[in-house]
Amino acid sequence: MLSKLPTNLPPHLSLKFIKTYLHSGDLLRARHLFDKIPHPDMHSCTVLINAYTQQGYPKEALKLYSELRARDVQPDKFALLSVVKACTTLRDVAKAKEVGSDVLRFGFRGDLFLGNALICMFGKCRYIEGAKDVFSSLQVKDVISWTSLCSCYVQCGMLREGLRVFREMGLDGVRANSVSLSSVLPVCSRLKDLNAGKEVHGFVIKNGMGENVFVSSALVDMYASCLCIEKAQLVFESMTWRDTVSWNAILTAYFGNGEYDKAFTMFNRMRNEGVKLNYASWNAVIGGCVQNGKTQQALEITIQMQKSGMKPNRITITSVLPACTHLESLRGGKEIHGYMFRHSFLDDITATTALVYMYAKCGELELSRRVFKTMPLKDTIAWNTIIMASSMHGNGEGALLLFHKMVKLGVQPNSVTFTAVLCGCSHSRLVDEGISIFYSMKTDHAIEPDSEHYSCMVDVLSRGGRLEEAYRFIQEMPIEPSAAAWGALLGACRIYKNVDLGQIAANRLFEIEPDNPGNFVLLSNIFVAAKFWKEAAEVRKSMRDRGVKKVPGCSWVQVKNKVHNFIVGDSSNYESAEIYRFLDDMGQKMRLAGYLPDTDFVLQDLDQEEKEDSLCNHSERLAVAFAILNLNGESSVRVFKNLRICGDCHNAIKFIAKIVGVQIVVRDSLRFHHFKDGACSCKDFW
Ligand code: ZN
Ligand code: ZN
Repeated sequence: MLSKLPTNLPPHLSLKFIKTYLHSGDLLRARHLFDKIPHPDMHSCTVLINAYTQQGYPKEALKLYSELRARDVQPDKFALLSVVKACTTLRDVAKAKEVGSDVLRFGFRGDLFLGNALICMFGKCRYIEGAKDVFSSLQVKDVISWTSLCSCYVQCGMLREGLRVFREMGLDGVRANSVSLSSVLPVCSRLKDLNAGKEVHGFVIKNGMGENVFVSSALVDMYASCLCIEKAQLVFESMTWRDTVSWNAILTAYFGNGEYDKAFTMFNRMRNEGVKLNYASWNAVIGGCVQNGKTQQALEITIQMQKSGMKPNRITITSVLPACTHLESLRGGKEIHGYMFRHSFLDDITATTALVYMYAKCGELELSRRVFKTMPLKDTIAWNTIIMASSMHGNGEGALLLFHKMVKLGVQPNSVTFTAVLCGCSHSRLVDEGISIFYSMKTDHAIEPDSEHYSCMVDVLSRGGRLEEAYRFIQEMPIEPSAAAWGALLGACRIYKNVDLGQIAANRLFEIEPDNPGNFVLLSNIFVAAKFWKEAAEVRKSMRDRGVKKVPGCSWVQVKNKVHNFIVGDSSNYESAEIYRFLDDMGQKMRLAGYLPDTDFVLQDLDQEEKEDSLCNHSERLAVAFAILNLNGESSVRVFKNLRICGDCHNAIKFIAKIVGVQIVVRDSLRFHHFKDGACSCKDFW
């Protein structure tokens, strides 16, 4: 026991006890004893510093070192080596410089062992000048010195320089080892420099290093990054021994090149051959599925992962959550939320932000807000996400409040923040607020507005009905107005029935994006509303002549685990008969409640054939009917549409929501509509 030890042990005995304590992992006791030595010698100091570094207490190691230096104790080579390691772990550049000059002061200039450690330390601290100085001070340079300098450049993002050092090493007659190769190959991958990669591959073959599994896996990855998937496969197949890393490399290679089927074949082969799947393997497959749009598959693989006994980690969660936002699969998203709660992942800022986004995209603004509120730490991305969520749902006031709160709390807004706030202002017709936010960007936050912000401002002015002002704004903006800017003006011209400005905007759009059918449809609708039938027909004709095709309208809804799609006049659903019966019955009740079908078909973003069909078979209306028939006791339904919701359907759904007594959420290509009690959250303006 420490308390039983006499206080004035002779130094050699103290050291013996210190070592015993350290051996049993008792750093605290060792330190107590050390502090009792009146004049500790270098050796006992080194022992303790080394222990601190090795057991993961680099700060303590440095602190102790500073205390010794203050007492003018002269460090030996081993003490310095330990301190250098501590600095390497801490990546503290100021301390690193101090230690670097101590190495020189105490006469170790040119020492290969210490020199290599210093190069590595300066590399981790991203202090390239220091690394270069040490490197050139070395009389003799071995493969570690060269490799460390090469890694140093790579860590500082100077990839070409790293490659140059690697080549110079060869010219200097130093032979690369597997560590050098594994650090230079990723450089070729990142630079997508196939020639350099082939050069390294040639070296590998010449020196018979192809058997090294790290080198071969890095080669697979290099060829995949350079889009030489066949070469990657060749290297992979020629490997005599493969570990999980090599399998993961080829898996990622296929997914990255969009070869989804081959990637999956590889994944199955991996499982059949009994390869131990690690986190990187599962996450590569799940991320690969999401990247390739196979969202359902991503969710299934996540379930398989759990069945295999591996728990999804943070990376899995952040990879799979976008699958739920893409499918608008609220149920899957909620399951993941539950999982995150059970496994205490909710303090992970990236995963939780993905959750906030998922709920917003699924139409659940309230849940999105609740998750955001519980986040203990909120960074700019988290704030941007919740502001965008409010804007998307037409809650411009909310978006503004959040923005001011963010600024007040000292979180730095960025360019995306302003896009999100301005978007909220335009959807809620907060014109003056929008203008003041726009001008505050530069004056208060030193952010130069870009093309997107200018377009948002045109939208703010246009939706607010200030069309002339919007047009002037476009003409005076310092950058070339984008299609988004003109499109915002054109859209507003339809709502405010402004034929002249509509024509100007449309003509500019026909030049900028001649293949976008939406512009033709909008201009045609503007003419129809003004009863300029001939002009409307001409626009239609010119659209046909130019071969511009209209995207067909499509709506979808999730019932239980399945997503059901609807197109106009759809009769392919197994409940089609019930759907039409329901809509017929609803039609009568709606008329009694005062609904008049909009035969003027002004606000329709649809093509001619679709319009000529009866109004009540539009895809969004079919999807709403199907969802209501499959309510299963829920009080709200959620429908998604790829195009803008049609004006008549918008009106009809308000009535349906009131008659059935449910909340109906429709997300169209622009925004969310929350229908409740005969009204919509967009206040009939979108
Ligand atoms: Zn409709
Ligand atoms: Zn609406």
